[in-house]
Amino acid sequence: MCEHMESCEFYRARDNSKIRQLLKEAYCEGDLYEVCRRKKFEEDKGCIALAELGPNGFSMEDQKRIY
Ligand code: SF4
Repeated sequence: MCEHMESCEFYRARDNSKIRQLLKEAYCEGDLYEVCRRKKFEEDKGCIALAELGPNGFSMEDQKRIY
């Protein structure tokens, strides 16, 4: 379980689509939090990840890889 859920824009978003629920279960609440691309983005860039960036590295808007 990810320690950033309280502050994470992805996790706290009001959008409750099926894809977001599945990503939350697999990454935020599951074991994949260790390879979350939002966390990697923030470690690499030193700033908060883009709101649309999903933990799998794909945009939540158009499902294209953005990181
Ligand atoms: S999206 Fe990534 S950083 Fe945010 S709560 Fe989920 S696993 Fe943690």
